[in-house]
Amino acid sequence: MSTTETIQSACPECDAPISFDRSPLNGQVARCPDCGSELEVTCTNPVRLELAPEVEEDWGE
Ligand SMILES: [Zn+2]
Repeated sequence: MSTTETIQSACPECDAPISFDRSPLNGQVARCPDCGSELEVTCTNPVRLELAPEVEEDWGE
């Protein structure tokens, strides 16, 4: 019913709860406040998080 519900998932590294103010986008990167890992949204419904690969400036495709 509520349109302002918080989206929640868990860090795959340390299992800390990760919350989003709004529905995250596929491929969005979040940072775990607990262990500092960069997490990539790989699925949005339900929200699934995976450790983001540690690549830098590798956008050439
Ligand atoms: Zn974590």
